[in-house]
Amino acid sequence: MSGTAPGASRIEGRGLLATRAHRAGELLATYRGPVVTTPPGPDAQGRVHALELEPGRWIDGRDPGNLARLANHACHPTAEAVRRGDTVELRALTDLAPGDEVTFDYGFGLADALRHPCRCGAPDCPGFIVAEPLRPLLRRQLRVGKGRD
Ligand SMILES: [Zn+2]
Repeated sequence: MSGTAPGASRIEGRGLLATRAHRAGELLATYRGPVVTTPPGPDAQGRVHALELEPGRWIDGRDPGNLARLANHACHPTAEAVRRGDTVELRALTDLAPGDEVTFDYGFGLADALRHPCRCGAPDCPGFIVAEPLRPLLRRQLRVGKGRD
């Protein structure tokens, strides 16, 4: 058993929660599905379940058995995405207690970020889902856009 299960997310909708204690580094879930070369479209709820492996290749994560698809993005995630072949492992970044939510950095680029608001609630959340190294740049762009600089 992986020790994770769907549950009510503190961030958005249904998320992936730990059902037991996990140690940092432990495998929490594996994101898997058919590898496709056109980005999968949204489901009936408007959610896209896909992970980009590299430019032009995505894992189509729609299969309900792919529980990792439920893991939300957070700016201070509890898990890291580790590529393993054509799957992506979600491994704990910290020790987790039962009920803790499994989150990871979706790693979106700037172009995608503005279409994906982030609701993680962190004090330093830029308000959009963007890869950690790009956050300072996005914050600057947003400030310039609002004319506050
Ligand atoms: Zn955030």
